[in-house]
Amino acid sequence: MVDADQTFVIVGGGLAGAKAAETLRTEGFTGRVILICDERDHPYERPPLSKGYLLGKEERESVFAHEPAWYARHDIELHLGQTVDAVDRAAKTVRFGDDGTLVRYDKLLLVTGAEPRRLEVPGTSLAGVHHLRRLSHAERLKGVLAALGRDNGHLVIAGAGWIGLEVAAAAREYGAEVTVIEPEPTPLHGVLGPELGNLFEELHREHGVRFHFGVRLTEIVGQDGVVLAARTDDGEEHPAHDVLAAIGAAPRTALAEAAGLEIADRSLGGGIAVDEHLRTSDPDIYAAGDVASFPLPLFGTRLRVEHWANALNGGPAAARAMLGRDTVYDRLPYFFSDQYDLGMEYSGWAPPGSYDQVVIRGDAGKREFIAFWVSEGRVLAGMNVNVWDVTEPIQRLVRSRAVVDTEALADPHVPLAELVP
Ligand SMILES: Cc1cc2nc3c(=O)[nH]c(=O)nc-3n(C[C@H](O)[C@H](O)[C@H](O)COP(=O)(O)OP(=O)(O)OC[C@H]3O[C@@H](n4cnc5c(N)ncnc54)[C@H](O)[C@@H]3O)c2cc1C
Repeated sequence: MVDADQTFVIVGGGLAGAKAAETLRTEGFTGRVILICDERDHPYERPPLSKGYLLGKEERESVFAHEPAWYARHDIELHLGQTVDAVDRAAKTVRFGDDGTLVRYDKLLLVTGAEPRRLEVPGTSLAGVHHLRRLSHAERLKGVLAALGRDNGHLVIAGAGWIGLEVAAAAREYGAEVTVIEPEPTPLHGVLGPELGNLFEELHREHGVRFHFGVRLTEIVGQDGVVLAARTDDGEEHPAHDVLAAIGAAPRTALAEAAGLEIADRSLGGGIAVDEHLRTSDPDIYAAGDVASFPLPLFGTRLRVEHWANALNGGPAAARAMLGRDTVYDRLPYFFSDQYDLGMEYSGWAPPGSYDQVVIRGDAGKREFIAFWVSEGRVLAGMNVNVWDVTEPIQRLVRSRAVVDTEALADPHVPLAELVP
């Protein structure tokens, strides 16, 4: 069959979906490309929602993956504000919209992303309880932070992960009082471990954020629909005018599950299980971005990666695989964050328990350094903090799996490139 007779359907209009559509066209696909998304906004990038856009430093227009006219120009059939509620693998159709429109696909890409986990405590239906995933959430939160800053109000954030901390930084910049509640002993515990988590705690404390570690939020106390306080399981009550639930995200696998596609084990983060070509257990269906769980032989596991770069590169890789190009997706996890005047990038994968040493190169006190998570002399991951243009050698070090001299690794006078065999 020639391209022109084929229909490729993309479900999900986040970055992975937008980039997959773009790649299909740049790779010369001339068939129908249909992109369906339940959000009304054109596909956009989410990182600014907790940083520049939230702070009012970036315009709304700057977050979009493409300008609106781009889709028609590239003959992408866009269905916004429409939910896909069924995939029939035998008939090769997807059903979407209120009227149950059916469209037939030759290849299907599921890039349905993730959704914020909900707090399961009394009080979550109060008007001052927020989540942050969508542009509309960020628009609302921006107004909330500005008002809290103006009125000396209190924001309680449940969760000291990336989004919780970035919003804490933004809220402090607006002048709001901020309290963060986190069951683990440090911020970012599951990603960075305690050693580097402490650094983020200090950074935020210096900027006036209050932390309560080792406790859980048990109730959001309100009156007449208004938030008054957040209660924790140690019996404390923390004053609050607004509460942000930033307790992680869950992959949106319902559609794939109902279609009988293989789902990765929950202990590995769940998600739609794909092979190294981003193909699901159905050879005509692919998945990428936050919702996909792909094998990473370097670490001997499969991973679900909830980061911008994985959507940016995974969408195009899936598109190439759908076109039958020889594509192996084995990118190292990479992410970045900005909080106050600290900027960082992290490459690799080193959850607590996987490393035996953290090696610091540079001045951690001045927050200008690279941290390496090392196991038996091999670098599993590296994080550069306010040090730039080192991602490539860090990734090469991780990929090499070479045993390195940790004294040389810690010495800023030894070029990183020299440590890569
Ligand atoms: C506030 C915030 C800040 C972030 N900051 C950073 C950062 O600094 N650095 C970093 O590396 N990463 C960051 N991330 C993570 C990054 O944005 C995500 O990894 C990325 O958005 C994933 O893209 P995606 O296309 O896989 O999924 P998504 O962006 O979630 O897109 C999926 C889309 O599919 C839609 N959809 C789902 N199911 C259906 C259905 N059945 N029918 C129709 N449509 C459907 C969803 O509504 C959504 O629009 C941040 C995320 C958030 C929320």
